[in-house]
Amino acid sequence: MESNHHKNKQNTVMKAEEEQGLTMEEKEKPENEGKAKKQWKLVSYDELPGYMKENEFIKNYYRAEWPLKNALFSFFSWHNETLNIWTHVLGFIVFLGLTLLHVSHHVPEVAQFVGHITWTIPVSTVENVSSNLGNFFGEAASYIKPPVIVSASEKSAPVAVRWPFFVFLGGAMFCLLSSSACHLFCCHSRRLNLFLLRVDYAGIAIMIVTSFFPPIYYIFQCDPHWQLIYLVSISAMGFVTVFTLLSPQFSAGEFRAYRATLFAGMGLSGIIPALHAAVVNWGEPRRNVTLAYEATMATAYLTGTAFYVARVPERWKPGRFDLAGHSHQIFHVFVIAGALAHYGAAVIFLRWRDEVGCAAAL
Ligand SMILES: [Zn+2]
Repeated sequence: MESNHHKNKQNTVMKAEEEQGLTMEEKEKPENEGKAKKQWKLVSYDELPGYMKENEFIKNYYRAEWPLKNALFSFFSWHNETLNIWTHVLGFIVFLGLTLLHVSHHVPEVAQFVGHITWTIPVSTVENVSSNLGNFFGEAASYIKPPVIVSASEKSAPVAVRWPFFVFLGGAMFCLLSSSACHLFCCHSRRLNLFLLRVDYAGIAIMIVTSFFPPIYYIFQCDPHWQLIYLVSISAMGFVTVFTLLSPQFSAGEFRAYRATLFAGMGLSGIIPALHAAVVNWGEPRRNVTLAYEATMATAYLTGTAFYVARVPERWKPGRFDLAGHSHQIFHVFVIAGALAHYGAAVIFLRWRDEVGCAAAL
């Protein structure tokens, strides 16, 4: 009886407020605003909920339990994930650009579009940048300079299939984008954090697996038996790695070295087909160039992974590198450098197959 009476009283109060033109939302607004202001402040490591305590050497500028909208807009503000997000978004844009340049070989509409862009942004910019990066990237860039002209003049030449090349570009873009999304939204909630971390790990595994496609496919194009063995092996390793990492406990900070070992193991298994290919193509002059590219890739990935595991330099001066210069940002830059070096090698493999076809390789 008493509770009924209470309810009736509440209803009367609500009705009275409705009559005054106050909706529920408006009523709650001032209170929410106060709460939100408190929430959107950047916090210190000690104030973080347990699942976000990942790196104790980064002391401040954390976003914790932010609403999705605020997390999204934090793309444009400074916090300790800003450069983690931006490095991989820029990497994504670079790989999207490379994909468009290569797609333009085959689709006239894209060719027109890319042609328009290259008119607007002078090609010399690409050349200057590439020459500054030295011979490694310079050679790769020389392949992307004249996308439209090359496709027209090369129509009569034997053309190798493109899909393994695009599989790699797609894998790289997926990895870079899922990593960016993870760094942007991981601060929202425990559930989303766990989900995005898994997507991020899956992205890394996909990047590694898809990286194997161009070299394995083109090198062993005349030997489908080995092609199949290597591609199935690396794909199986990718699946096992992703399934292992689906278990939430592996996302914790203390499993950092374990995760790195799994991914590094996947990547390093590429040494076997690389040695095989080096022996099979002993007399091929382009062998050393591609090996140099792939050695650059391996060095970049391993150096990046070392930073990721060691958490250097923030370990030496905790709090000093919160916004810029901490290990994860350095790791991201090395990932992009490694992927670009691998792109350089993939372009050479592709051109080689365009030129020599299959019979000449044996
Ligand atoms: Zn990252």
